[in-house]
Amino acid sequence: MLNRTFPKINERTSLLGLGGMRFPTLENGEVDEAEAIRMIRHAVDSGINYLDTAYTYHGGKSERIFGKAFKDGYREKILLADKLPIWLVKEEADVRRFAEEQLERLETDCIDLYLVHAVNEADWKTTRECNVLPIMEELRAEGKIRYIGFSFHDKYELFEEVIDYYPWDFCQIQLNYMDTKFQAGLAGLEYAASKGIGVVIMEPLKGGRLTDAVPDQVQKIWNEAPVNRPPVEWAFKWLAARPEVTTILSGMSSMEQLDQNIRLFSKEDLPDLTSGELARIERVAEVYRGLIKYGCTECRYCMPCPSGVAIPRLIRFINDWNAYEKNPSLKEEYLTWMDDTELASSCVRCGHCEEHCPQKLPIMDIMGEIVEAFGR
Ligand code: SF4
Ligand code: SF4
Repeated sequence: MLNRTFPKINERTSLLGLGGMRFPTLENGEVDEAEAIRMIRHAVDSGINYLDTAYTYHGGKSERIFGKAFKDGYREKILLADKLPIWLVKEEADVRRFAEEQLERLETDCIDLYLVHAVNEADWKTTRECNVLPIMEELRAEGKIRYIGFSFHDKYELFEEVIDYYPWDFCQIQLNYMDTKFQAGLAGLEYAASKGIGVVIMEPLKGGRLTDAVPDQVQKIWNEAPVNRPPVEWAFKWLAARPEVTTILSGMSSMEQLDQNIRLFSKEDLPDLTSGELARIERVAEVYRGLIKYGCTECRYCMPCPSGVAIPRLIRFINDWNAYEKNPSLKEEYLTWMDDTELASSCVRCGHCEEHCPQKLPIMDIMGEIVEAFGR
């Protein structure tokens, strides 16, 4: 298993980390606990030592599954990352309450890496107003957590602000060869690394969109490569080639996927990327970009929508739906990540947004297309 030294923390960390958000499920939709535990232990036995979960993954079951898997000496072999659900924090006391509950669920005395989960503009405000970081420092002094970090989902400008605000030990960002300018992006990776902090990568395969159903035009470019590699290897290779990347998290949902990834991350040459290979990946990215139907620049001049519709986020969803072969994970994310008022079905066709859109996008019709695609 390839590994790197985690900056600041100064411990060897497997380049592949196991994310606990997409464990296998049974026919009734419940998480398959026995198989998940088997996967966690197999991952650790195979050299993966960075394990990541969160309060909300699998409705709280992910933490409990990790707790069970960590018995019999497994806990001592790994670095355990868990996250404070900052959007549920309403007052200072909540921070400690969540941390204590998470320790209980995980059946451990200490969370090695504790993150403020999914920081965005609103949650960053809460982080400051509820004194989250001083309370985390108290928890650290009590030995309940060891390192303090954050995961991020907002614009690059906010990322810089958050990084500069506090001497973080590490951060976690979304990055893959299609998201170089999305959220923190490549600039965020480089900025965080310039501050000497570890960067954990999430969504390396864009939620499976880069690997599940590959369009013919893309597959043709991969097939023309002198060395035959599956799309998943190209995506991981692109990330592994960046020395600023500390660990790449993947939410694997079957033993087969886990084994495939373990094999990939055991290949010594995974981080080697020639200029020709990089150019090939860029050609693929260009094809995907060409499949983007609506040229929304996310300038937000259309916002706020009087009905609460999250217009630019929704346009990103329908663009991805069209570009990534109607990947079912998009529908699932759309229906679970968004508040009801933010959905396209809340649009009352008032026309306010279209008056302000510099790209002259037919937003009302796009909302109709989204309802047709995702059902709401
Ligand atoms: S047309 Fe729909 S999306 Fe646009 S501002 Fe009105 S309600 Fe919101
Ligand atoms: S104004 Fe138009 S381009 Fe800008 S975010 Fe809204 S829909 Fe997108």
